[in-house]
Amino acid sequence: MRIAVAVDGPAGAGKSTIAKILAKRFNLMYIDTGAMYRGVTLLSRRNNISPDNIESLCNLVKSLEMHFLENRLIINGEDVSEEIRKPEISNNVSLYAAVPEVRELLVHLQKEMSKKYDVVMDGRDIGTVVLFDAPFKFYLTASPEIRAKRRYDELIEKNVDVEYNSILQDIIKRDFIDTTRKVNPLKKAEDAIEIDTSNLTITQVVDKMSEYIKKVTD
Ligand code: C5P
Repeated sequence: MRIAVAVDGPAGAGKSTIAKILAKRFNLMYIDTGAMYRGVTLLSRRNNISPDNIESLCNLVKSLEMHFLENRLIINGEDVSEEIRKPEISNNVSLYAAVPEVRELLVHLQKEMSKKYDVVMDGRDIGTVVLFDAPFKFYLTASPEIRAKRRYDELIEKNVDVEYNSILQDIIKRDFIDTTRKVNPLKKAEDAIEIDTSNLTITQVVDKMSEYIKKVTD
């Protein structure tokens, strides 16, 4: 049986850092589903396709070949990993991710990936939709201020010129759109284990999660 670990939660809760470590520890493929929605946003903007132009949006998504190579997102042969992290993409991605037709296409792709590989997948609807039957489900949270500070530090480290307040506003706005959208909103799966990461180190969170995974895989 394939191993599947679902990690959900709002932006900046630590999902991707933690999922990458779990992937190494348990020899899983890490699938960053947020990167896939960001990729769609990047390509749509390059092609001047707005979120309400459903037909063009669907045609575009269907024309994309997306895969991960050593945690980098490759779309139609181009490594877009850096570009999809820029603020102009962060500020728009929730609008594209709220389009039901886009979600249907990406969820299908994500499910196909989980059939081929043992995965740890992070996102907003992994435990509730994409891997609803996963044996391991986690929901990571932290206060908006702490999450904004983490994103700010990450971007400053990469020499991206940003302001803390605009990141905090973006996070609050994205939380709102992600939790209130009609299709697959961000919410904790009933059977997910919730961990508040506000006052925990990455190692502490990973160790906590590993205990659950070990218990069953031992
Ligand atoms: O995880 P990250 O912050 O990179 O995700 C970017 C955006 O993609 C989220 O704010 C959300 O709008 C969308 N997303 C989603 N469903 C997922 C993953 C991400 O709607 N499974």
